[in-house]
Amino acid sequence: NADTAMYQAKESGRNTYRFYSSEMNSKALKQLLLVNDLRKALVRGEFYLDYQPQLDLYEGRITGTEALLRWNHAVFGKISPAEFIPLAEETGQILSIGQWVLAKACQQAREMQLRCNIPLRVSVNLSTKQFQDPNLPAYVQEVLANTGLAAEDLELEITESILMENVEKAQQILHQLKAMGVTLAIDDFGTGYSSLSYLRTFPIDRLKIDRSFVQRITTHHNDAAIINAIIALGHSIGVKLVAEGVEQKGEMISLQENQCDEVQGFYFSKPIDPETLMDKISSQSVFCFFNHPAADGAK
Ligand code: C2E
Ligand code: MG
Ligand code: MG
Ligand code: MG
Repeated sequence: NADTAMYQAKESGRNTYRFYSSEMNSKALKQLLLVNDLRKALVRGEFYLDYQPQLDLYEGRITGTEALLRWNHAVFGKISPAEFIPLAEETGQILSIGQWVLAKACQQAREMQLRCNIPLRVSVNLSTKQFQDPNLPAYVQEVLANTGLAAEDLELEITESILMENVEKAQQILHQLKAMGVTLAIDDFGTGYSSLSYLRTFPIDRLKIDRSFVQRITTHHNDAAIINAIIALGHSIGVKLVAEGVEQKGEMISLQENQCDEVQGFYFSKPIDPETLMDKISSQSVFCFFNHPAADGAK
């Protein structure tokens, strides 16, 4: 065990920083191991995608799904994308991993569309390096052609902070992608510092309101006010609003009252494998969560 080995190696040192340095080193060591294993993970088939449904609050049904990358490491088991995506980004490995994600998500989404016989949009997260990769548009085009997924059924999610890093360059890339007919969304909206005048110039279809606001919507007036302002702002520039991280019924009701278009969160479903998602779509078993005229008979 790496921790123990590191601990024993430091045993001779002074008591006071023995633990501290052991922890530091084992964290660095684990990161090194992960970076090395990231290289092999693709060929070893250790990656897979889970899908979290997105529900339309008007229609009361699943209209989209976000593809979320999972790594089942041979030794460490499941590793969170929050832990390994930054490493893959730093080392540039994100480019080949991102290509795999795009191809897999489009292929699986197309299969789900055909098997459930419904329209289904799939959202794929892009990292900074991927978004700035000049080969991205051509690759997206190739994947769409190979999988038969319609361009408008693919949504690319880019975080607000990535877009704000270099606004002019972002505008250029977004327009290039938009020209291909794909759908574009700003992820984690509200956590960056976008200026409203820039927002207007991005050819985006959807804003995803960050979970940190949604979490406080029923308890903090300020957060509820921010969400309502974001919804009104989004609608005024012609984009749809998706709330992320909806965990409670009260949050959903508040969002519904304020004309939020779509919701995603543990209240409806955690990220799940394609088979489970297809079962949910077929039975629309999330339907019963809805406080919606079509679901309840009356409101
Ligand atoms: P994100 O794109 O903002 O994805 C939403 C995250 O929130 C997911 O975490 C999801 O499981 C989680 N979530 C959804 N609903 C709830 C809820 O009700 N409560 C709580 N507590 N959490 C909720 P996950 O899957 O761990 O992904 C974390 C982040 O990793 C993603 O944030 C995204 O930035 C990144 N990521 C995941 N897959 C990919 C990928 O294929 N490529 C890139 N570049 N990044 C990815
Ligand atoms: Mg996302
Ligand atoms: Mg997000
Ligand atoms: Mg996030």
